[in-house]
Amino acid sequence: MDVTGLAPAFREIVGADAVITDHQELRTYECDGLTSHAAVPGIVVLPTSADQVARIVRTCVAEGVPYVARGSGTGLSGGALPRADGVLIVTSRMRRVLGVDVANRIAVVEPGVVNLAVTRAASPSGYYYAPDPSSQQICSIGGNVAENSGGAHCLKYGFTVNHVLGLEIVTPQGELVRLGGPAVQYPGYDLVGAFVGSEGTLGIATEVTVRLLRAPEDVATLLAAFDSIDAAGACVSAIIAAGIIPAAIEMMDATAIAAVEAAVACGYPPGAAAVLIVEVDGPAAEVAAQLDQVRTLAAEAFDIRVAADDTERAAIWKGRKSAFAAIGHTSPSYIVQDGVVPRTALPAVLSRIETLSRDSGIAVANVFHAGDGNLHPLVMYDDKVAGETERAEEVSAAILDLCLSHGGSLTGEHGIGVDKSRYMPRMFSDADLDTMQLLRCAFDPGGLCNPGKVFPTPRLCGERPGHRKGVHPLAESGKAELL
Ligand SMILES: Cc1cc2nc3c(=O)[nH]c(=O)nc-3n(C[C@H](O)[C@H](O)[C@H](O)COP(=O)(O)OP(=O)(O)OC[C@H]3O[C@@H](n4cnc5c(N)ncnc54)[C@H](O)[C@@H]3O)c2cc1C
Repeated sequence: MDVTGLAPAFREIVGADAVITDHQELRTYECDGLTSHAAVPGIVVLPTSADQVARIVRTCVAEGVPYVARGSGTGLSGGALPRADGVLIVTSRMRRVLGVDVANRIAVVEPGVVNLAVTRAASPSGYYYAPDPSSQQICSIGGNVAENSGGAHCLKYGFTVNHVLGLEIVTPQGELVRLGGPAVQYPGYDLVGAFVGSEGTLGIATEVTVRLLRAPEDVATLLAAFDSIDAAGACVSAIIAAGIIPAAIEMMDATAIAAVEAAVACGYPPGAAAVLIVEVDGPAAEVAAQLDQVRTLAAEAFDIRVAADDTERAAIWKGRKSAFAAIGHTSPSYIVQDGVVPRTALPAVLSRIETLSRDSGIAVANVFHAGDGNLHPLVMYDDKVAGETERAEEVSAAILDLCLSHGGSLTGEHGIGVDKSRYMPRMFSDADLDTMQLLRCAFDPGGLCNPGKVFPTPRLCGERPGHRKGVHPLAESGKAELL
């Protein structure tokens, strides 16, 4: 079906200026931050309320048309990749902070609200929203919920899932329902937990209740430069082994440092094979004690600097926060990989990545949340040189295999989306994937809500999932009925 035929129905719901059918304008939405996957959406609709989202979804369901939610489009796994035969529902006109309730330490926001806007709304009262993706100046809370986004400070404070108390969602059938709420605990299944990280496949969040934290009394930020990656890695392990959980421990290797110096001249110590940014926060006395301990544990560093004030702190963070963009200045194209390994495996994994890079002739810069073992190898290539794109993809896939072989994960925070769905069978068995599909089918029996994402094989919910010919084991054991 030509979905532009739905334009009159959508104009009825949202008004004429909120429905896009012009091909050139539609191209604005053809990809998210993963530009290697693109598709011009059939039609784009920009609702301003939950009720409008529900009516749009009901229209799609009635017509059997697939639909995809999009926040700010900064996702790095193609989660918001549109469908040429579908509807893209963009939340950028749902940007109201509905309330900041300091007494209950919560904020209630619409899904298109930009991450940093929550902290801006709460900071006059001395509070903030903790999850801080590097994209926080632009990414939306709805996108953060869908991706269970993390950030430099999630080591101490946890990921998005630890900060979302309640949701209003439009279900894949178009009903408005509430999951969780302002209280800390609700009985029954943790449907908020199931929804957070579901990558837009279980419905569209239309309101999010988030936890606010009191801003720490004091913060100290230390930059330590090492002449080997191993020494920096050993310092990370020593800090955690000493019982300190810093707010953040970030690491960058020499290739990444060179790129950020060229792009933003952040003034990191010259000649470093690796730098660590270690931030501790909390009561002033505790911060002072932990800073002393970290200095001692970083004794192998050849240069240690501690930010004297917020300006110096911002200068230290500037390099780290600009790293992805900086690579774009040095390499025509690059893949932002996202994998996780146990912290103790970091030295072995980084050394193997170096070998992969040398053998393939594909440069890799490493920027990562060292405290979490969450790697972001930036695999650089020139798409105009024959064969380089393929070699870069091979290196990128080999890095994921490496993470899995060390007991790690395919993604730490960027999600599976369309990009990594093919790798899911490397991490999960058929039975695992079938069970996840049962959950998806329970929410979305019609299979219209962000289809083709997360799972390697698109399925209808009436089909038996998996390669097996017989009845699904859960159905066979009487634990589930075939949907
Ligand atoms: C420079 C840069 C740095 C980044 N740094 C980090 C980082 O440090 N940590 C990190 O975790 N990520 C990071 N990211 C990735 C990205 O910013 C996050 O995944 C972010 O949460 C995406 O938000 P968005 O609003 O752009 O979502 P989009 O890209 O628009 O969508 C992402 C997914 O969410 C779904 N979605 C969007 N809105 C809703 C909704 N209301 N309800 C249900 N589903 C919805 C979409 O369908 C899609 O599957 C970075 C990206 C860039 C470009």
